[in-house]
Amino acid sequence: MSLEGVYDDGNIFAKIIRGEAPSVKVYEDDEVLAFMDVFPQAKGHLLVISKTDKARNLLEADPVAVARIMAVTQKLTRAVNAALQPEGIMVSQFNGASAGQTVYHLHFHIIPRWRATPLGHHAEGMADIEELKGLAAEISAKLDK
Ligand code: AMP
Repeated sequence: MSLEGVYDDGNIFAKIIRGEAPSVKVYEDDEVLAFMDVFPQAKGHLLVISKTDKARNLLEADPVAVARIMAVTQKLTRAVNAALQPEGIMVSQFNGASAGQTVYHLHFHIIPRWRATPLGHHAEGMADIEELKGLAAEISAKLDK
């Protein structure tokens, strides 16, 4: 898919927002949702999205929504650090298929990294859901109250 196009209300993240598809939530408020990536590239890989802005990518996003997503992304990056104590944390975001985007609802990846563990394949290999629930609980317990 190119950078040009129309937002598809049937995309998997839109379904997660509407409660039509399951997710392992880590954080939710009126505007932002964060949940565990079910095909994680590392232990603790999670995704942060806007619940209100129907943007396929960063180029077409409302800057106010981007600011809200980024504020939550920072909070969660700190919580991931406190919960999992990784050696590094990658925050990434892809625009268009050529850049690696596979779901066309703007999202940011938070991916903890350990030097000895290579990054897993992108969007491949489903995680154990109970394990994801455990990680989500560990991470959300470290969010600033
Ligand atoms: P991107 O390739 O940047 O568009 O990222 C999409 C991400 O969504 C990938 O890392 C996938 O593993 C992840 N993903 C796809 N379907 C789901 C789902 N149902 N629940 C959680 N994560 C998903």
